[in-house]
Amino acid sequence: MAFKNIVDLHTHTDNSFDGNHSTMYLCETAFMKGLRAVAFTDHLEMDAFYKDRFDRTAIQSFFEVSKARSAFKGRLLVCVGAELGQAVYNKEISEKLTSTMKYDIVIGAIHNLPEVQDFYYMDFNDESIDYNKLLDQYFEWELKLAQWGGFDTLAHLTYPLRYIVGNYKKPVDMSKYSEIIDEILLTLIKNEKALELNTAGLRQPIGVTSPDEGILRRYKELGGKLITIGSDAHFAEHLGAGIEQGYELLQRCGFDSIAIYQNRTPTLIPIE
Ligand SMILES: [Zn+2]
Ligand SMILES: [Zn+2]
Repeated sequence: MAFKNIVDLHTHTDNSFDGNHSTMYLCETAFMKGLRAVAFTDHLEMDAFYKDRFDRTAIQSFFEVSKARSAFKGRLLVCVGAELGQAVYNKEISEKLTSTMKYDIVIGAIHNLPEVQDFYYMDFNDESIDYNKLLDQYFEWELKLAQWGGFDTLAHLTYPLRYIVGNYKKPVDMSKYSEIIDEILLTLIKNEKALELNTAGLRQPIGVTSPDEGILRRYKELGGKLITIGSDAHFAEHLGAGIEQGYELLQRCGFDSIAIYQNRTPTLIPIE
């Protein structure tokens, strides 16, 4: 199945500490690949905003992407975005930042628990790490993030599973989180925030999107309508990766449109 409205609303330029390609090169690549829209959402880890100089990243990324948005006008819709990590650990700065910078889209994410390293860096073979307890805390913070609501779309809801289940093959009983996940989804719906379908997992050992089909179906059942989709590309070659598979998955779950954001306002475009 081929889709014509391919959009990718979660990508990283070399302004992200783990990004690799320049904004202009990424735009050229996205255009060559036939994407309709791309959002650049460089990492701003709000719990280390000044310490790790994300204040500088924010400005650099914002102006570069704004410039690219003008340069590609009429060829590719470029959205200026940011992926705010751990915004709920530092609401004050997060709110100040998002009210000062005129973003098209703000993604809300949690990559680490307070004062703990990113799940990405953890060794889950280390038996002193109680990953079930960390997951309990993670979902509580996801709920707090949804309740705060200072973003447009909630990124990779099941982020730690990429590593715990995908890389380390540890068993996780997700049924015990169904109640809190329902609460998170209902909070997003009430606050008119989108749920992100992050396709990075499709090219990683875990092999599924975040969230997966079960959670997407539940979101639909609870009345969820706003979905964004993103590859979480950190390389030009990953732009648009998994978006078509994601669209097929969304259609199976009963969704027929996808949200794009300009000036923090959603527009629904048909999945076709
Ligand atoms: Zn992320
Ligand atoms: Zn990301």
